[in-house]
Amino acid sequence: MTPSHSPLMNLEQALEQILDSITPIKDVETQSIMDAFGRILAESIHSPLNVPPYQNSAMDGYAVRSADLPTSGNTTLDLIGTSWAGTPFAGSVGEKQCLRIMTGAKMPEGADTVIMQEDVKKTDQKITIGNAHKAGQHVRHIGEDIQKGEEVLQSGKLLKAAELGLLASLGIAEVQVRRPLKAAFFSTGDELRTVGEPLQEGQIYDSNRYTIFGMLKGLGLEIYDLGVIRDQREAVEAAFKRAAEQADIVFTSGGVSVGDADFVKQTLEKLGTVNLWKIAMKPGKPLAFGRIGKAYFFGLPGNPVSAMATFYQVALPALHKLMGQTPPAPLRLKLRCLDSLKKRPGRTDFQRGILDYEGDELVVRGVGAQGSHILSSMSRANCFIILSAEQGTVEAGSEVEVQPFSSLM
Ligand code: AMP
Ligand code: MG
Repeated sequence: MTPSHSPLMNLEQALEQILDSITPIKDVETQSIMDAFGRILAESIHSPLNVPPYQNSAMDGYAVRSADLPTSGNTTLDLIGTSWAGTPFAGSVGEKQCLRIMTGAKMPEGADTVIMQEDVKKTDQKITIGNAHKAGQHVRHIGEDIQKGEEVLQSGKLLKAAELGLLASLGIAEVQVRRPLKAAFFSTGDELRTVGEPLQEGQIYDSNRYTIFGMLKGLGLEIYDLGVIRDQREAVEAAFKRAAEQADIVFTSGGVSVGDADFVKQTLEKLGTVNLWKIAMKPGKPLAFGRIGKAYFFGLPGNPVSAMATFYQVALPALHKLMGQTPPAPLRLKLRCLDSLKKRPGRTDFQRGILDYEGDELVVRGVGAQGSHILSSMSRANCFIILSAEQGTVEAGSEVEVQPFSSLM
């Protein structure tokens, strides 16, 4: 069955089939938490401590006993010392006494309430406070943030800045993470030249290798760039072989549309298994997915916008699964679209849009020309406008579904 004769494949079905066939990598390594930045956690983390580990002050001020708070008028208390952050006060606070205390410093024995320094009148070794204070105010309690034994991070979590800080706050220096995925990629096409080479008549610069590089790099993968490969059976076969030996996953672009596809298919059938699909998405449509040896393989469409859209919508969920990452929660917004958008029913459209404010309202506009070869549209855009297969042309002012690019990485 050649792609030219096969019916359109529903996007969700293709995704399901792809995800079902992927087994996450198992290799795990121990890394210091800084080296674990951007990696996928391979264990679940339970807190060895209470955070905070001791009662402490949330303010610079004075630690007092709530029993001494006046219900009317003022009260004067004796100042008996200071609790510094890192150097707690050794004694305890008795009746009509108070202690100078800094933010983060341990609450002294006896005291349970903090008065902000702005709210006291201080004279020599005494302070005077009013009656507008609540018992227990401005005190951080043991385990208020995290309780000892509590699960704080689940296996599969992408470790970013907050997670590194969280691990450090628990005194955890090293964690188990999955090893980084290795991805190899190359472009196919006799018309393609690499930047730095002169262009002859009928030639264009290869851009897909650079977008693919960027998208993979953003995911923290180890990357092998195999360059531009000529549309020639032996060259393509050799490139596939080399890529599959080096990498867990291989990306190509181009050569999977009608006409070229048989050639890729024949090459791949010698080395592995491949499905060639015409996916009911726009831009996109031609997509190859399969295995070469042990590696997974994605043949992305050649058109630059199609390659990116297919990567984000189809390959990205597959990469998340392969690297053992719990997929990030999908961020999709329903927003008013200020422009009318041309659309024919039949395929799911991923049009390029620009999120913007009109007054207080977050709205979306189209980027104008939506051709799958117009890469500048991807650069101008900051979101996909997702229009379902059944949907026809969108009238200006209608509500549409929007997926911000920032949520894709
Ligand atoms: P193909 O799928 O090989 O027929 O390519 C479809 C369209 O995408 C053609 O216009 C190609 O010139 C273009 N194209 C293919 N690969 C690339 C690439 N790596 N960079 C830029 N354009 C490409
Ligand atoms: Mg080509």
